[in-house]
Amino acid sequence: MNYSDLAPAYIRAIAPYQPGKPIAELERELGISGIVKLASNENPLGASPLALAAMHAAIDDIARYPDGNGFELKDALSKQYQVPHAQIVLGNGSNDLLELAARAFLASGDKVVYADHAFAVYALATQAVGATGISVAATQGYGHDLDAMLQAAIEHKAKIVFIANPNNPTGTFLSAAELLEFLRVLPTEILVVLDEAYNEYLPENLRYDSVSWLRSFPNLIISRTFSKAYGLAGLRVGYALAHEQVSDMMNRVRQPFNVNSVAQAAAVAALQDHEFVRQTYEANLRGMQQITLGLTEMGLTFILSFGNFVCFKIANAGQIYRRLLELGVIVRPVANYQMPDYLRVSIGLEEENKKFLSVLAQALGEAK
Ligand SMILES: *Cc1c(COP(=O)(O)O)cnc(C)c1O
Repeated sequence: MNYSDLAPAYIRAIAPYQPGKPIAELERELGISGIVKLASNENPLGASPLALAAMHAAIDDIARYPDGNGFELKDALSKQYQVPHAQIVLGNGSNDLLELAARAFLASGDKVVYADHAFAVYALATQAVGATGISVAATQGYGHDLDAMLQAAIEHKAKIVFIANPNNPTGTFLSAAELLEFLRVLPTEILVVLDEAYNEYLPENLRYDSVSWLRSFPNLIISRTFSKAYGLAGLRVGYALAHEQVSDMMNRVRQPFNVNSVAQAAAVAALQDHEFVRQTYEANLRGMQQITLGLTEMGLTFILSFGNFVCFKIANAGQIYRRLLELGVIVRPVANYQMPDYLRVSIGLEEENKKFLSVLAQALGEAK
């Protein structure tokens, strides 16, 4: 028999998530070291030193189960955002929270709205519970078309709308005014998951206080992560803020110990490390300038990005991607996001960005 037939059709239909290629895998394949990975929007500065120290300390207690309620981390978040513990859900990465929202609120046949070129996990989380995703065409500039998403949500009586701000892989951004207008007109029985994985990379003038919106919009779920600006991608920890009836449902479907003890300790410390987040922000700003300037000098265009990565347009993207691998630089193909003419590069350290630009120039020269 074919064991995949035992799985429901909606599971068999799932296209697996394609992660960035790990450094060790490329090293094994090429037998070389010194690989530069700019493929998963990781923090090139590493992790917050305060978080590292907290992890070392937490190891001593590793024989114990973690605090299933995540008291210390919720307390730190509660103090930072002025929300009660009951409005916080902790996740094994914010990916987990996207899935918890889907598992808590969706049943087979329910409809979910997201945008074309939006983060792949929205479709995966939707399909995994047998719900139906409605992907709405993006604007000309690859951004979310909130008007069209609103129409689709109403027309299909969607249960959840996923919005990534900024979005990955496009890097596009919606202003606070646009988001607020959307929330004001959307029927309140439709949940909005506002995924703010790159929130910390926004410049001062674009920042907005989405947490304060929770008071006016009980259908809002904000998700954030420690994987990007806090540099803790390998630990897997994120959080959601939502109305307490919403977070209650998400907590019911969560694994009791979904966030490990080392991750909880690290996240508490990382939250206090404002200096590290500031350095991360500034390094990203410099790196973004370096990379976008370099791309422009090569005659390449890119999508203006508000995250720690940028998508640039390039002929034969698949071929260039493979050539960059051979030259020791891992970037991310985005053909699976219906962007076959683009590659996404994460912003790295100055030297890494430099290497990326030089091997890209070489690959382009060879392709002529
Ligand atoms: C990276 C990313 C996440 C989450 O990553 P986790 O490591 O699971 O926290 C969520 N949303 C977007 C848009 C991302 O790019």
